[in-house]
Amino acid sequence: MARDHGYARYKLDGCRCYICGYANAVYCERRERAIAYGTWQPFVDAEPIRLHVRDLQSCGLGLRRIAEAASVDRKRLQALLNGRPERGTGPQEKVRPALAAAILAVEASFDLLGATTVIDATGTRRRLQALVTIGWSQAKLGARLSWTPANFSALMREPQTIVRTARKVRCLYDELWDQAPPEDGHREKIATNRARNMAKARGWVPPQAWDDDTIDDPSARPDIGAKTSQAQAIAENSHELIVGQGYTTEQAAARLGVGISYVQKARRATKRQAVSA
Ligand SMILES: [Zn+2]
Repeated sequence: MARDHGYARYKLDGCRCYICGYANAVYCERRERAIAYGTWQPFVDAEPIRLHVRDLQSCGLGLRRIAEAASVDRKRLQALLNGRPERGTGPQEKVRPALAAAILAVEASFDLLGATTVIDATGTRRRLQALVTIGWSQAKLGARLSWTPANFSALMREPQTIVRTARKVRCLYDELWDQAPPEDGHREKIATNRARNMAKARGWVPPQAWDDDTIDDPSARPDIGAKTSQAQAIAENSHELIVGQGYTTEQAAARLGVGISYVQKARRATKRQAVSA
């Protein structure tokens, strides 16, 4: 299944094409502006809030879930989106800042997404591959996840997965990423070595090559010790966008097609070099 390019595709499929990057920048800018605006007005324009809800819906979040996360009555969301047809009123033009703030605080985070929402499988695959590099065989991982070998190898190939599967793999990874498998007997040792060798042959990278906030970003590259020049380029380009052109860090990251934390790290690293030079 393919989503149209836009905010949901940026968020769920990790697409970093121009259209998706632009949609995400618009989303971030509109949200920040609406939040800032709501801090001093008695009523705020309802349209940006409505668009925010539509972006959340495009990521598969239903009104019920959005209402719960914002701690507001679902009827108030319906009035915001569609008005109250029974009273003959259309969509609201203005809302109270408190309602706006509560809705704007909701984002399509991984924890909030529905279990069957289809998402990009990059992070899931990288986690499993990373565990294999430290000796966890696919058979062992499959057993832990209650997957058949066929399910397992399908997951390693498919470009997309669902949130439920991604959550299971995250939990397993968080448990095992810094542990080698037990090597009780000769057969176990052989299985562990075989897993390591297979991972090496395929160019898979270990958990140490990833940060938790980059492992799910398809455009992020593993840190295998030689990416100084890329970080340098990102630092310079983002500096120009942020200082020279007034971009926020989020907008600069979207424009450059990398994660926000990557931009922050690259900028910090460059500052450190400048200080010590
Ligand atoms: Zn796209």
